[in-house]
Amino acid sequence: MNKASVVIIGGGIIGTSIAYHLCKNGITDIVLLEKDYLSAGSTGRCGGGIRQQWSERANVRLAMRSVELFQKYSEEIGLDIEYYQGGYLLLAFTDEGVELFESNVKLQQEEGLDVKLLTKKEIAEKFSFINTSGVKAAAFCSSDGHANPHLATMGYAKAAENLGANIMTRTKAIGIDVINNKIQGVNTDKGYIKTGLVINAAGGYSHEVGQMAGVDLPTESYRHQIFVTEPVEHIMDPLVISFENNFYIRQTKAGNFVMGQSDDDEKPSHNENPGWRFLIEMTTKMPKFFPFLKQMRVLRHWAGLYNMSPDALPIIDKSTTISDFYYAVGFSGHGFMLAPAVGEAMAEWIAYGKTRKVDISNLNIKRFAKGVTREKNVV
Ligand SMILES: Cc1cc2nc3c(=O)[nH]c(=O)nc-3n(C[C@H](O)[C@H](O)[C@H](O)COP(=O)(O)OP(=O)(O)OC[C@H]3O[C@@H](n4cnc5c(N)ncnc54)[C@H](O)[C@@H]3O)c2cc1C
Repeated sequence: MNKASVVIIGGGIIGTSIAYHLCKNGITDIVLLEKDYLSAGSTGRCGGGIRQQWSERANVRLAMRSVELFQKYSEEIGLDIEYYQGGYLLLAFTDEGVELFESNVKLQQEEGLDVKLLTKKEIAEKFSFINTSGVKAAAFCSSDGHANPHLATMGYAKAAENLGANIMTRTKAIGIDVINNKIQGVNTDKGYIKTGLVINAAGGYSHEVGQMAGVDLPTESYRHQIFVTEPVEHIMDPLVISFENNFYIRQTKAGNFVMGQSDDDEKPSHNENPGWRFLIEMTTKMPKFFPFLKQMRVLRHWAGLYNMSPDALPIIDKSTTISDFYYAVGFSGHGFMLAPAVGEAMAEWIAYGKTRKVDISNLNIKRFAKGVTREKNVV
């Protein structure tokens, strides 16, 4: 393939969702470049959590639209992605935490989300697998859930291919050819592709791909680690998360528990090597909150990248200097759950000049010049 109307750089959930939604909107002359295999980046390393409970309205809206699309996914794409709406339980351990959840729930309810606060007693009755000592309250949304990120990526890629897109794995973009601020093509390690429009969906490498076009995106990547236990019978419906105690945990369809935390000592890097400290900290901490974990063995431990923007909200925009250079980057720890709505919005913007279902204008890059309010609901 040596020419295309659109070249997408990145074969994670964002790139493949954009590819699928472009095809759905009639733009099928697409090449998607993935330097490794599909979902080899953050997507295939992520927790698979899908929640709508955010402190920033833009995230709530994108997540709510994404849930509508996840609900239709298996019927529309024809693939079971292990989507399970078991809810998300956000635990608060301090008065400040409770206050934050009260104001978040108000904002989320204004957006039409069915979310509520639970008392300690209600938490203990409903979720007996949690040690509630120290818990003050929780926020709960039953339509939150999780899905398998590999399957979701493969499904979008296959559906895009069926509609005419060309998915090129093991093909690395090594340069973007720009003359007089107009894109001419993309250089890859397998040859040149002539195109006038490029979308940067390169996840942890979004900054580097931006630089290929001379665009300096304010994103940087940080290692995040995660592990999975052996499988047991199903006991945990919701994904449980604590911002104050820095953890999230969920049970997969097969019965394994997947869990992680963030690490304030991480420096920006592309390091994807797991480390011992994480494993020791997590295996010491988690059984205190979930006593049943004491009996369980860890099967596998890995790491991936959070591609961070200055406010932990995505940047979905196009360059003002290089024409038709679009980007959907900086997804922090929530790009998987936002991907269906982001792909749809990006495709509508390119196909019709404006989005139809969800407004992404406040996720533009100009916002950083005004100062930012950081998303608070992050691990
Ligand atoms: C441990 C961990 C847990 C997480 N948990 C969750 C969660 O529960 N829920 C959630 O919503 N999000 C979660 N996230 C975040 C989520 O994984 C990301 O936000 C999301 O996967 C971003 O998708 P993406 O397609 O932008 O990036 P990626 O999946 O990284 O895809 C980008 C792709 O671009 C490719 N690429 C890069 N440079 C080039 C190039 N030059 N040429 C060709 N290809 C290139 C890469 O190989 C990669 O495959 C988690 C992340 C981590 C690390």
